[in-house]
Amino acid sequence: MQAVLADVPLVADRVTIGTWLYEVNALLAHLPAGADRARLLEARAVVRAGLLRSEDPCPAGRGRGDDGPAEDARGAAVLYEAAGMPQQAAASCLVAAGVHAARGNVKASTEMAVRALVGYASVPGYDRDPRTGADLAIRLAGLCRQVNDHDRALEFAEVAVAQSELVGDLARWSAATHDVAEVLLRRADRIRPGGEGYRIRAGLVERAEHLARQLLDRGEPKTVRAVHGPRLLASALCELGCAERAWEVLESTSAADELLTAVPLASLHLVRGRCLYRLGRLEEALAELDAAVPILTEGADLTDEVSTLLLRGRVHEAMGDTAGALADARLLGHRLWERHQQQELAFMDQVFSRAGVEGERRSLIAKTEVLARTAEQDPLTGLDNRRGVERVLRALPAEDPVCLLLLDVDDFKLVNDRFGHAVGDEVLRQLGRLLVGAVREVDRVSRWGGEEFLVVLPGQAARFGSEAGERIRRTVADHPWTGIRAGLAITVSVGVACGPASGRTEALHRADEALYEAKRAGRNRVVVDGCSPPGPSAP
Ligand code: GH3
Ligand code: MG
Ligand code: MG
Repeated sequence: MQAVLADVPLVADRVTIGTWLYEVNALLAHLPAGADRARLLEARAVVRAGLLRSEDPCPAGRGRGDDGPAEDARGAAVLYEAAGMPQQAAASCLVAAGVHAARGNVKASTEMAVRALVGYASVPGYDRDPRTGADLAIRLAGLCRQVNDHDRALEFAEVAVAQSELVGDLARWSAATHDVAEVLLRRADRIRPGGEGYRIRAGLVERAEHLARQLLDRGEPKTVRAVHGPRLLASALCELGCAERAWEVLESTSAADELLTAVPLASLHLVRGRCLYRLGRLEEALAELDAAVPILTEGADLTDEVSTLLLRGRVHEAMGDTAGALADARLLGHRLWERHQQQELAFMDQVFSRAGVEGERRSLIAKTEVLARTAEQDPLTGLDNRRGVERVLRALPAEDPVCLLLLDVDDFKLVNDRFGHAVGDEVLRQLGRLLVGAVREVDRVSRWGGEEFLVVLPGQAARFGSEAGERIRRTVADHPWTGIRAGLAITVSVGVACGPASGRTEALHRADEALYEAKRAGRNRVVVDGCSPPGPSAP
C-alpha cells in the first residue's frame, strides 16, 4: 500500500491516474477500517478532485463534477478520528471543504472547515507547533481562494509564510509564498486599471513579482522553481506591462511534462495567452487559450475560467471573429448561470436542512412533553400521580389559600384479601372517577400512592375543605360497590388541612396527621386539622 500511496499521480496523464485509481479501488475493496484505509481514501479524494498532492505547494485545488471526492475525504476523516489521529482527520476535513468550495457548496464547505478547525484545536500543542499552524493556514488560504475571499486568503497565507519561516521549513514556505503571490495577483486583477486604483494595483503586482523571484531562487520542491515561480513571475511582469520580459521567462523555463498537473498546465496556458495577446501574437494566444478552456471547464476554478473566456473573447474580437467572440460570451454566460444554479441549490439545501433540524427539534419537544405527561400520570386511574400533583401545587401562587384532602381507603388490605387484587384495582379505578365527580372542576384529584388519594382545593374553594371531605366520604360510602362484586363495601377516611400554598409541605403533613386521627377514631370519617375528630359518622 505504501508503494501505491507514494505513487499518487502527479501528472495530468489520464492513463496514469486511471491505473493508480484502479489499484487503489482494488485495495480499498479489502482494506478494513483503520488509518491505512483513511490514507488511501484521502489520497483518492485528492486525486479524484483533481487536487494536487497534499505536500504539493498549492493545495488549493479544483473540484470535478461530483461529491465522490468529498465523500472520500469525509470517510477518511471519520476513520482518522476513530484511529485517534485528530490532526490527519482535520486535514481530511479541509480536503472535503476544498472540494465542496470548488463546487460552490458554501454550506458544506464551511461545515467541513469548521470541523477541521475544531479538530486542529484538539491536537495537543497544535498552537505551539508552527508546522501544523502553517499547514492549517495554507489549507484555509486555499479554501478562501476557492470562494474568492482574497482578503482572508492573504491573511492565512501570510501567517503560513511566517510560521514556516520560523522552523525553516522550505516546502511549506514555498507553498505559502506561492499562495500569497497568487492571491496578490488575483486581487490586482479585480482592480480596473486607471485612477487611484492603479497605484494600489501596481503595488500588489510588484509584491507578487518580488515573491515570484524568491520562489524561483529558493522554492521547493522542483515544481515550484520550474513551474509556479516562472508562471507567477510572468503573470506579474505581464500585468506590469512587460509582456516581452514575461514571455522570455516563460520560454526560458519550459517545464518538463512530468512536473505539470492539470492545474498549473491550465494556468500556464492562460499566462502564455495573456503575454501573447499583449504582444499582438493573436493566433498563438488563441491556441494557448483553446488549450486552457477544456481543462478549466472540467475543473471548477471559476476565476481562471472566467479570465480565460473573457480573454479569448477579446482575442477573437481583435481577430475580427465576431462569431467566436459571441460564442465565448455565450459560454461564459452559461458557465456563470451554472454556478449560480449550484449556489442556489446549496442555499436551498441549507434552508431545507435548517427546516429539517427545526422539525426534529419540534418533534423532540412534543415527544418530551408526552413523556413528561406520562411521567406525571397514574396508569391505573388516569389521575395525576404524586409527581403530577406536586407540580400542580408548586404552580399555585404562594399567597393563595389551598386546602388539602388526604384520603385513604379503609381496610383495603381486606378487600384485596377477600376479593382478589383485580377487584382491588377496579375499586381504585371507580374510586378515582367517583372522586372527580364529587369535586368541582377547579379542584384536582390525584392518586397519592397505593390506596391513598390527594384532593387539592385551590383558592376560594379552600373554605369548603371540610364540606368537600364530608361530601366525598358520603359519596364513597353510598356508592353501590356491589356492582363490582357482591358483598363489597368501601369507605374512606379523610384528613383535611388548609393554609397558604407556600406552606403546602407543612399542610400535607397536617393532613396526614388528621387522616391518622380519623383512622384512630374508627375510620369512615373526616378530620379537619386543628379540630378534634367528630364522633363516628353514620355510614
Ligand atoms: P387502613 O384502613 O388502616 O388504611 O387499612 P389498609 O388495609 O387500607 O391499610 P394498608 O396501608 O395496610 O394497606 C393498603 C393496601 O392497599 C396494601 C396494598 O396491597 C393495597 N394496594 C396498594 N396499591 C394497590 C393497587 O394498586 N391495587 C391493589 N389491588 N391494591 C393495592
Ligand atoms: Mg394506606
Ligand atoms: Mg387504607
